[in-house]
Amino acid sequence: MYQVKFYKGDYIKRLKNANKDKAIAYVEQHFNSSASSQPNYSVVITGSNASTTSKNWGRWYARSISRSFSTKVAGDDGILVGGWNGRGDGNLKHTKMPAILLEPLFASNPQQADIIRSEDGQLKLARILVESIERFFPQGGLIAFSVGHKYKKSNPKDRGAALVGGGTEAGYAEKVLKKAAVMLKQIDNISEQRTIRVMQGDKVLFETAIDEDDDILWDSQRGVLQIP
Ligand SMILES: [Zn+2]
Repeated sequence: MYQVKFYKGDYIKRLKNANKDKAIAYVEQHFNSSASSQPNYSVVITGSNASTTSKNWGRWYARSISRSFSTKVAGDDGILVGGWNGRGDGNLKHTKMPAILLEPLFASNPQQADIIRSEDGQLKLARILVESIERFFPQGGLIAFSVGHKYKKSNPKDRGAALVGGGTEAGYAEKVLKKAAVMLKQIDNISEQRTIRVMQGDKVLFETAIDEDDDILWDSQRGVLQIP
């Protein structure tokens, strides 16, 4: 079972409160922005003191986003340890639990801004985040969510980058996290087994548990997915 709590206030306060609550994982959602045209990469920031779990979790998320949205992964195989020249480090490094800061898509890229604004895009982003949490924290527990930029005492009007075509980074970051929170709370049975899903858009058509060492074979010629 997962519980979810949104942390607000200045970043350091969010981190300290998540520690106090003994959260098992911490996620801060952002969208990237750039002055150059058509940036197209996904990246996850970890604290400079990040654990191996934080790093592996961040890479798994960045790669999954890259596959789903046809982006490249930036940084060190999808992660930037310690942030952009230190920026982002303070958003994470005081947590006692694994923590990642997500920059999956660009608010400044017109095609990606449309995806961020779409219900479908938000559901896809939320699902990948939820799957990453299920994979790296299968024991369940309290998940700490933080909306980047919004709810800071130091700068209450900050909403991050503007999306090309309308809306703000923080506004859509919050929508994605809220969708992820609903999905996480719906997981009543933590699967201790490896799960495979057949999906159409965000709809799960088929789901089953398989053995850890089972081989799955996609025969593209026959159009058959062979599971044991
Ligand atoms: Zn941001």
